[in-house]
Parts: sequence; structure tokens; C-alpha cells
Amino acid sequence: MSNKEIARKFNLLGKVMELHDENPFKIRSYTSAYASLRKVSAPLIEMSEEELSEIKGVGKAIVGKIIELRETGNMATLQRYVDMTPAGILEMLQIRGFGPKKVKVMWNQLNITTPGELLLACQENRLVELKGFGMKTQTALQSQLEFYFASRGQAHYAYIIDEANELLKLLQDKFAQDLVELTGEIRRMMPIVNAIEILTTADAAQMEAYISSLSEEAPEMINYKGFAVEITQVEEEYFGMEQFEKSASKEFLEEADIEYEAYDEEETIFIEWDMAYVDPEYRESAIAVEQSKAGSLPELITDEDMLGVVHNHSTYSDGLHSLREMSDYTRDNGFQYLVMSDHSKAAFYADGLKEDQVEAQWAEIDEINASYDDGFRVYKGIEADILNDGSMDYGDDFLSQFEVVVASIHSQLNMDSEKANRRLIKAIENPHTHILGHMTGRLLLSRAGYPVDHELIIDACAANGMIIELNANPQRLDMDWTWIPSALEKGVMISINPDAHVRESIHYMKYGVKVARKGGLTKEQCLNSKNASDFAKWVASLG
Ligand SMILES: [Zn+2]
Ligand SMILES: [Zn+2]
Repeated sequence: MSNKEIARKFNLLGKVMELHDENPFKIRSYTSAYASLRKVSAPLIEMSEEELSEIKGVGKAIVGKIIELRETGNMATLQRYVDMTPAGILEMLQIRGFGPKKVKVMWNQLNITTPGELLLACQENRLVELKGFGMKTQTALQSQLEFYFASRGQAHYAYIIDEANELLKLLQDKFAQDLVELTGEIRRMMPIVNAIEILTTADAAQMEAYISSLSEEAPEMINYKGFAVEITQVEEEYFGMEQFEKSASKEFLEEADIEYEAYDEEETIFIEWDMAYVDPEYRESAIAVEQSKAGSLPELITDEDMLGVVHNHSTYSDGLHSLREMSDYTRDNGFQYLVMSDHSKAAFYADGLKEDQVEAQWAEIDEINASYDDGFRVYKGIEADILNDGSMDYGDDFLSQFEVVVASIHSQLNMDSEKANRRLIKAIENPHTHILGHMTGRLLLSRAGYPVDHELIIDACAANGMIIELNANPQRLDMDWTWIPSALEKGVMISINPDAHVRESIHYMKYGVKVARKGGLTKEQCLNSKNASDFAKWVASLG
């Protein structure tokens, strides 16, 4: 065990003790032991008790713990505190910029126990009003967390794609005589990406050396701004073939069953094998191959097909921007309508709306709508909480007055499959609900969703005319895109919703569109691809 490792244990001990409100005097002694031990050059593990006690800032208790480490490989006190602390909390302590003081507030006051939940809390604007936090801290934590996720091996697509494109451009400029393209998971628009994969005809070693020269410190692995980079070098005649193989699922490749031959361009493969070109993100299933051969590929949804923005929050509940700011921004970005859906009254942690606050919001929505002369419309929606027994938190009479009701689970997420299904199905069968919000509550790379039986839930939605949300927050992307084909087959429409808590977050929809394309969604089957008048008709039909 190196001196650094030993020192780090004392540092961690100080941090976890602070989390658990231990004696500040003790905490300080461990923190200062960390500071002095890491500077010692002779190996601590070989020192005698006497030599150890001569080190400045190292008292009897600390000497005892170093000897315990030497003899048992363990520090029982540290272990005890570690056992009392959720793994995600310990993980948060390791992230740059996260001291025990901050972590403790988030744990105690917001009940956050993983980095992913904390990132969501930043995105949903929950730190702004916390004592000792505020907008600046929230923004700083959010970008640290995004970087943390992107650089720890696996990244959410949204937090790596800009860097990938930036690197691609640099490489294409530097190796201008060669072919350089993105490949693999990132080209397939997978929601989670392991590395920036590059396919090139350039010399891989030279390219690696160039990428390394871009960072200041000597890197342990090839990376760009902390994101892992993988380079595959290929002969020009095989470039198309290799790109084809790297940009599809195993199932797709098996069904396509194309011999590995020299093709410099991917398009030629499709032409020669009598297949219509399949976009890389849709090269997922055997069905995609069949459709390609039969010339019956779906016309996948695009960003331009998105005409309205559904499921949004304002300052009425936990959003950052006012109703007026949300609607002006949405309108200025060329959309035709906005469905507001602030939190309902059971969501106390998010300032959920009591009935009289809802009525005030409706009055303001009427005013805002009257102020537009181009037909842009704000709809009176709500994100209503599905309670523990599957009932909704407003009475039927009140709930029926909303124009659009998104029904979501936000509390008591620990459920077995039977309970989760029962709870969701009861909400789906409620005649006053219209859209099922974030179906499993999952957070990618952070929190598994509640264990729903997707087929059962999709069947219930089909039977009750319920629309399923594809929550486009890059951490959620919930429902999972792999279930989209099943929903479409059963005639269930999908709504690609940003769940925006900040006006700029309406652009999360683009991430939803990407995964929706993987699932084969077309604009005909997407609720918010309806134009203003068709959407108005849909709302009117809800009664
Ligand atoms: Zn929600
Ligand atoms: Zn929401």
C-alpha cells in the first residue's frame, strides 16, 4: 500500500465522518493527517510505531490505524462508516467539486443518493432554492456531473456527441488526404456510448500521437477532453465494408448476411445487395433488413417533423422560467403549440400546484393565448402524480378540466413488478389521463427503472387510447426505444417530450428523435408531430 493510498483512506474517513455528523475535532485530525501523510517520502507501511509518531500531525489514534492497515489490510472505523453510507453517496464524494457539506445537504434534504439523481435534480432545477446553493452552484455541479459521466468510461450520447464532432473536424483537417469518419455506437446514436470511435484510412499510430498532443498532460489512455477514443485503421478499398460492419447490430448483420469484400463506400453495398439504404441508427433488427429488401422502410421521424412541445414546467412549480418566457421561447423557435404540465399537488418537493394555483395558471394561459395573433397556442395541461394505489392526486371533476393530462410516478419507486404494473394500469384506465409520463422512472447509468411488464402496459395503453411518452431528457430516454416497435404494432402513439424545466431544454427533443428513429417511429405515429389544427382536434376529442 502506497503512502498516497494510505493518505487517501484518512481523507475519506474525514469525509464520511462529516457526512454522519461526527465530532469536528476528530474529523479535522484525519483531514490534516491526510495532508501530512501524502507528503512523506519514505514508505509508511515499513515504518516503526516510533517513526510514525514523529511525523508532524500524526497522533496516537492515527498511528494505530496505520498499523491496523499494515496488519489487516483494513481500517475498521472507515469500514463502519462506509457500510452506513449508500454507494452512490460515496461515489459522489469522489467527484471533483463535491465536498461532504454539499453531499450531505443533497442526501438529507433532497433524498438524493446517486450522481445520476443529482444530475436530474440540477436539470429539474431543484438546487436553486436550497440554502447555500443557488443558480451558479447548480450550473457548475451540472457541468461537472455531465463531464463525470462522459469521462468515466460510459457516457450519455448527449454529453459526448459535441466533443465527438469537434474531434472529427480536427482530425479531418489534420489528415485531409485520408478518410476519417465517426463509427460504432455514436454513429448508431446509441443512448449510451463507451468511446468516440473513429474509422480512418490514416495511420492509427500517427493519429493517436496527434490526439495525445492535444492534451496538456501525458494521458494514460487515448482520449479527447477526457473521453476515450478508439481508432480503427482500414485500407481505403475496405472503408465502406468496415463502416457497414461497425455501424449495425449483430442481429442486423446476421440477417443481411453480406460477405466481407472490398467496398470503399457503404452505399455500394446496399446497391449491390439489392437493399434500400438504411440509416445507421435504424440498423437494429432483422425486420429492418426485410423492409430494406422489400423497399418498405419506414420514413423515420426527423427534428423538422416535431411541431409542438409537450410536457413542460414553469415557475408555477419547479421550472426556472415563467409561463410567458416558456411560451414565447417555444413560439420563437418555430413550434406551433406548447403543452404546459407543471407538477400536481402531491409533488410537494417540486412545489406542486394546489387547485387555486392551477386556476390562476389557467387565467394566465388565456391571457397569453389572447396575446398571440398567429395561432400559437398554450394548452392547459398537468403532470399529475400517480399515487401509491394508482389513483390520481386531484379529484375526477378537477382533473377532467385539464386539456391534457400527463400521468407520472414520482414517489415510492421501490416496487415489485406486480405492484408497478397494477399502479400504472389503474392510472392508464383512468378516463381523465392521456399520456403516460416516463414509463419506468429509470436514469441511464444511474438508476434502474421500476420493473414494469412492458407488453402488459403497452396493451393497457392500446385498450385505453393512452399515449406513451418518450421522455427525451438524455438521462431518461424512457420508454426505452426497443419497445417502440411493439407500441406501434399495437397502434399506440408516442409523444416525444422534453420535460423541460428550463426553456432551453425544449431542445432535448432532438435526443428523443434520435432514439425514436432507432425504434422506427414515423411522424404519423407521433403525437407532437401533429400540426396546430390536428393537435387541437386531438385535444377536443379527449372530452
Ligand atoms: Zn415527471
Ligand atoms: Zn415533468
